[in-house]
Amino acid sequence: MKEEEQKLKNVINYEQLKSSFYINITHEFKTPLNVLLGICQILEKEDVPEKWEKYINIAKQNCYRLWRLINNVIDNSKISANSFEVAMSNNNIVHVVEEITLSVADYLKESNISITFDTDIEEKVITCDPRIIERILLNLISNGIKFSKEEGNILVNMIDGIDYVTIEVQDDGIGIDKDKINSIFETFTKIDDSLTRKSEGCGLGLSIVSSLVDIHGGTIEVYSKKGEGSKFVTRIPAKITQLDQKKVTETLINKEKINIEFSDIYSG
Ligand code: ADP
Repeated sequence: MKEEEQKLKNVINYEQLKSSFYINITHEFKTPLNVLLGICQILEKEDVPEKWEKYINIAKQNCYRLWRLINNVIDNSKISANSFEVAMSNNNIVHVVEEITLSVADYLKESNISITFDTDIEEKVITCDPRIIERILLNLISNGIKFSKEEGNILVNMIDGIDYVTIEVQDDGIGIDKDKINSIFETFTKIDDSLTRKSEGCGLGLSIVSSLVDIHGGTIEVYSKKGEGSKFVTRIPAKITQLDQKKVTETLINKEKINIEFSDIYSG
């Protein structure tokens, strides 16, 4: 028995070591990447020949993709190690979701994808971490865009409830095969492995989303029909906790976050 206990301890130690190694090394990747992004931003402001603009854009886009990948690996490791930080505050969730949707609408205004926000409540204050809500939503919306048809419509719909607030992200894109739908929230699930696929990604997104919903005490489900579209239904507990801090409704979204989260969509 002692020997088995020791073996278990060794495995746990090894896993912890591996996880902190991943977190540290991925953080190290961010330093040179920041330098490269900074250079792209400086060049963007310069009066460069027109054909350079395209290359600068491609370089920047790929920096964002790397940044997103690093963020996802860090978050995945933190979630596995139970060390993902959650900062709960009391927020008007309707405002948080609306702000996120409006920022995406602004980002999409030159594209052939539209995004609409609908709600049956104006205000609902709940205890949540707006950064996590933002992360979940940006991921679901970016998938809706990634797997859209030539033209697409995304609907973000909020429904009030006694125990839960429901946030639906619905698209009219390519949909998901019936036999794939059950594994969609598992790590590294990537349904289209073909080299000709329209978008990139390593299959970490939805697994992180599902864990973040879980950390938040909520649930997530997906309904989809091949060729017709998909609907992701997230339910977040509608509870208010007495917190030390006063009620805050933070507007966290910024263009940079959308650039990073959507970087897999239009890759150069
Ligand atoms: P990735 O980063 O590769 O997109 P995700 O975990 O976000 O990974 O998604 C896993 C897979 O699920 C995707 O590769 C895609 O095949 C499928 N998928 C996710 N969202 C949608 C959607 N809205 N419509 C169609 N397929 C989707």
